[in-house]
Amino acid sequence: MSSPLVECVSVVKSYENGRIRALGGVDLEVEPGEFVAVVGPSGCGKSTLLHLIAALDRPDSGTIRVAGHDLGREPNLDHYRARHVGLIFQLHNLLPTLNALENVQIPMFELRIGTAERRARAQRILELVELSDRERNRPPQLSGGERQRVAVARALANEPPLLLADEPTGSLDSEAGRNVLDLLGRIREERGTTLVLVTHDSDVAARADRIVRMLDGRVDESPAPLAAVANLRPPTLRPIRA
Ligand code: ADP
Repeated sequence: MSSPLVECVSVVKSYENGRIRALGGVDLEVEPGEFVAVVGPSGCGKSTLLHLIAALDRPDSGTIRVAGHDLGREPNLDHYRARHVGLIFQLHNLLPTLNALENVQIPMFELRIGTAERRARAQRILELVELSDRERNRPPQLSGGERQRVAVARALANEPPLLLADEPTGSLDSEAGRNVLDLLGRIREERGTTLVLVTHDSDVAARADRIVRMLDGRVDESPAPLAAVANLRPPTLRPIRA
């Protein structure tokens, strides 16, 4: 059996000198190639967990391993992030003064990829997200959906094995949201990329291989309600004719 790509063991994280307990001992494994949706009420710790896996922050205790790297022992977290993780946020976080082609190249600087290779790679990725004709446009000149596709392209810049997405469709209309999800699905199929996606949208979560529910800073192990498991709608009541 292959080892998990992501492994979280007893991960604890507090803010404000321990007054806010965001994660109270999270255990989670994600297999290579898996699509996991993390769901749960606002404030239950979903984004915190994603940020820790991305090494944007450190846990108070516990272990996080990604692709065999123990993040607590990684000497260079910027390098780890650039090689192993692609990040997609609810708001695209693109640099407004750079065009799409330049934005996609940003993560490549950390790996010291040469100018010509950077450019060629960014062009290939923009082709993949079907935005070749928008290379020269800056974010304010793009639609919300196009910006988010540039953000997906930027996340793919260094061909990371893991994509972490925090409400990636949260600020898009439903059609643009579907396009971004279709794109993520295609990337997974074509590249075997592992996807961990935080969402509060049950339609988005329904696309995942597995749904991980969080509650009060922990993974909720209790069985999901039957309707959620079977994705059933409540039965429609018909009037009884006398
Ligand atoms: P979710 O993504 O499920 O909405 P978060 O991970 O954002 O939850 O937050 C979990 C808890 O930690 C919440 O109580 C939130 O207010 C708190 N929190 C998150 N980030 C910070 C921070 N930087 N400083 C203080 N409290 C924070």
